[in-house]
Amino acid sequence: MTTSTTPARPEGPLADIAHLRHTAAHVLAYAVQDLFPDAKPTIGPAIENGFYYDFDRTEPFTTEDLETLAARMREIVKADYPMTGRRVSREEAIEAFRDNPYKIEIAREIPEGDPITLYTIGGFTDLCRGGHADSTGAIGALELESVAGAYWRGKSENPMLQRIYGTAFVTQQELDDYHAFLEEAAKRDHRKLGAELDLYHVDEMAGGGLIFWHPRGAIMRGLVEAFIRDGLRERGYLPVVTPHIVHENLYATSGHLENFGDSMFGPIEVEGQRFRLKPMNCPGHILIYANEGRSYRDLPLRYSEFGTVYRFELSGTLHGLTRVRGFTQDDAHLFCTPEQLQAEFEQTVDEALRLMEAFGFSEFEYFLSTRAERGATDEIAEAAIRNALESHNLPYQIDDGGGAFYGPKLDINLRDAIGRKWQLGTVQVDFVLPERFELKYRGSDGQDHRPVMIHRALAGSLERFFGVLIEHYGGNFPAWLAPTQAMVVPISEHQLDYAYEIRGRLRARGFRIDTDASNEKLGYKIRHWKTQKLPYILVVGKSELADGTVNVNERGIDEKRTVSVDAFAEELAARIAAKR
Ligand SMILES: [Zn+2]
Ligand SMILES: [Zn+2]
Repeated sequence: MTTSTTPARPEGPLADIAHLRHTAAHVLAYAVQDLFPDAKPTIGPAIENGFYYDFDRTEPFTTEDLETLAARMREIVKADYPMTGRRVSREEAIEAFRDNPYKIEIAREIPEGDPITLYTIGGFTDLCRGGHADSTGAIGALELESVAGAYWRGKSENPMLQRIYGTAFVTQQELDDYHAFLEEAAKRDHRKLGAELDLYHVDEMAGGGLIFWHPRGAIMRGLVEAFIRDGLRERGYLPVVTPHIVHENLYATSGHLENFGDSMFGPIEVEGQRFRLKPMNCPGHILIYANEGRSYRDLPLRYSEFGTVYRFELSGTLHGLTRVRGFTQDDAHLFCTPEQLQAEFEQTVDEALRLMEAFGFSEFEYFLSTRAERGATDEIAEAAIRNALESHNLPYQIDDGGGAFYGPKLDINLRDAIGRKWQLGTVQVDFVLPERFELKYRGSDGQDHRPVMIHRALAGSLERFFGVLIEHYGGNFPAWLAPTQAMVVPISEHQLDYAYEIRGRLRARGFRIDTDASNEKLGYKIRHWKTQKLPYILVVGKSELADGTVNVNERGIDEKRTVSVDAFAEELAARIAAKR
């Protein structure tokens, strides 16, 4: 027996565009069925900015195939097939996809009692949970972008599938705007700018996902760290430093091995003992807490560390600075009494906002991520997060099941200068690890009590944060962050001594200044330093030497100014102080 179902349509334009794109994924699978009947469809969700569909097919899809498929998709769109759904039994679903082991696997895994639905457009039927446009004609513009390999269910022991990426919009104008956006994003790509501005590289000889910070990048990283460290000191955090490699047992006790093992590098055997690279800093901070008896008077205790961690990521998913295998978190763990939890959590939210605003971010999204398997304390933990958000008037969304294995968390996403979303900071409430490690403090009642832990990393990974900063600023770093704040460029060798003198005077004031002593033509030198995106180029010729001045070329401003060296120093100091 079958019954018709109408897919639920969540409110709002975001849901609509996701439904439209997911519908386009169905249209793609329809076109593939028509043109490449040997390919087996697997899954095809909407993603940010588009959709994909994974197919099992021996022969690779070529660029020409994508063009042919897109043309067929446009015909399907034009035919304006309605999307019709019907509920079926598990047996019917399995029978309908008897030649497709992937669909059968999905059909078998749908929990008992949950609806199993088939959706049809024209001559194509798919097993799907729903969330569609009403008909294929709702798609105003579409295109296919690329093909990439992807393991079934993201697991490397599974078959390799071919993932076709595409995008769809309500109108052609929106697709055109999207292309303009992609062009801007490509200009800001941190991998491209990282090389052009000599900030970092990834070395094949050392392995993927491991970052070599060049001096210019390391200077910037140091500035970010110093800024964060100042904030930590003001707020009463205590620095700690913990080892990169410890006995595997520590991670058995913490539960990381069991819950996070897939993301950890394998064991290293020494003298018959098994060690692991640390995937998280928490267990190390816990050992410091547990190393002596604690009283309620000691709490809250806030331990911070720029802690470097190592996590296994498939090589195919690695991406510049934003998806790596070794990274450093601005990590901290707060140990507090249950009564202190609310205030401590709210303080970390304040810190997070202050940090992001200092780097010029102003748009944020908040997610309360709950645990898939909620325990008795989750209610208290979730309430702390909810209250902190509500007391700050911060609207938030719920991410069901997105929490850490030890507790629910607050994730903070931000939007960069061209509107892209990035997930960076996270604050988590944890009753589980204190239990596992049997942490205690002596209360005012003379009895032992269990502390609560807050895990927080506000920039998140410094590597990822730096990647986002490069793209957010498009390499045009504000003066306070720029690795070189100004280049002194003499017009001829007669001003070279003067150029060095200016460099010395400005360096003595703590500025990051260099001199271009090359024999290139002036025009070439100025163009070169402009492509290096320096905040200032200071040109000195005969008259500047005579008057003790510099000719200021400011980034992004055509007009040049001649000012005294001291006046320039004051301007730069003011700009740095204002973090502009
Ligand atoms: Zn669907
Ligand atoms: Zn932690």
